[in-house]
Amino acid sequence: MKCSICKTGTTRPGKTTVTLQRGGSVLVIRDVPAEICEDCGEYYLDEITARRVYADAEQGFSRHVEVEIQRYAA
Ligand SMILES: [Zn+2]
Repeated sequence: MKCSICKTGTTRPGKTTVTLQRGGSVLVIRDVPAEICEDCGEYYLDEITARRVYADAEQGFSRHVEVEIQRYAA
């Protein structure tokens, strides 16, 4: 699909690292399957993946971790 950020790039399937912050907590989730823009590097998660990523992040935030690095488990 076409990238909606830079408007010129095309996305391709790949893996990305998602970083989420809330309060004093930083959560990093690696190896998340996504469509990634070849030009600007913006990534797009599909709905199921996004829901999964946010659910994983929610658990980390509820434990009040300072920094946590997770690996996305499909
Ligand atoms: Zn782009």
